[in-house]
Amino acid sequence: MGVIDRFSALLPLTAATPRLCLGEGSTPLVALPRLGERLGIELWGKLEGCNPSGSFKDRGMVLAVAKALEEGCRGLICASTGNTSASAAAYAAAAGVRCFVLLPAGHVALGKLAQALMYGAVVIAARGNFDRALELARRAADERGLAIVNSVNKYRLIGQRSAAWEICEALGRAPDWHALPVGNAGNISAYWAGYEEFRGLGRISKSPRMMGFQAEGAAPLVTGLPCPEPETVATAIRIGSPVSAGLARAAVSESEGEFNSVTDGEILEAQRLLASVGGVFAEPASCAPLAGLCKLKKQGRLPEGILAVMTLTGNGLKDPDTAMSQVGRPIEIDDDLEDLFRVLEQ
Ligand SMILES: *Cc1c(COP(=O)(O)O)cnc(C)c1O
Repeated sequence: MGVIDRFSALLPLTAATPRLCLGEGSTPLVALPRLGERLGIELWGKLEGCNPSGSFKDRGMVLAVAKALEEGCRGLICASTGNTSASAAAYAAAAGVRCFVLLPAGHVALGKLAQALMYGAVVIAARGNFDRALELARRAADERGLAIVNSVNKYRLIGQRSAAWEICEALGRAPDWHALPVGNAGNISAYWAGYEEFRGLGRISKSPRMMGFQAEGAAPLVTGLPCPEPETVATAIRIGSPVSAGLARAAVSESEGEFNSVTDGEILEAQRLLASVGGVFAEPASCAPLAGLCKLKKQGRLPEGILAVMTLTGNGLKDPDTAMSQVGRPIEIDDDLEDLFRVLEQ
């Protein structure tokens, strides 16, 4: 079952909405006891890399594409740091509509580029950054009758609420803290809306504090200043002018949470920690929350014993280049038992 069928009662569907599905949503919420112990908290990870295109983007994309089909669209267009394009291209393929994706040239992780091309989208690498590519996509959508499936599309954020609902259903409550990476700031806004909706329905009694983590080189919500030249190894959050900044600010202030930034070094360290101590390989952007929790712990600002959920937004396999730049190489031996024993004894 996908997001549309599982949450049909909570989504804006009509009899004419196609029941599009690639098996998105219902991702594992896993306890991370070894990491939790280090941080002195009960830590859980929502494994969004287990979605069909490998990131949380599929939750909103399935609804955005279904609604675009319902409205008779001629094709889809999006600008993307990578995962939106992979997701849009996948659903466009499944639905049989054309898909155009604009990527910032030279700044998209290899796996994501391979996905968009393999799913059969028309892939356009625009010289300039994401923010500029989005502007172009919005104008082209308006003037050429294409459905824009960036998070400016309201259905994206509605579909993304489903992750918060799943967490509440799995835990039987909301976490004390919910930590996630923030780029365009749609996801943090969608989670908050999802939690508040469940609170309104009496399904949870209290919503979590929303803790948003940005990369230091792309942290407009932390500094309060525009960031015209965003730069970070975490390409999925390399965004200087978040579309959902207003909603995200409201989510953080209403929930008594906060925005914080982490350096690229801290993000890469957290990525290795999550993989080697948690057993979860997530892409760099997804590791900003763990980097942030580690930083708050060091500053003595992480309350002991709280239940915290991190959204691990995308699969580590999407960005093999960054991963390989951080780890060693395999130990080569001759096909000889003595050689093998020497390594085992090291
Ligand atoms: C899109 C994305 C983000 C950022 O989410 P926003 O809704 O833009 O804040 C973070 N991590 C990954 C892996 C993403 O694909």
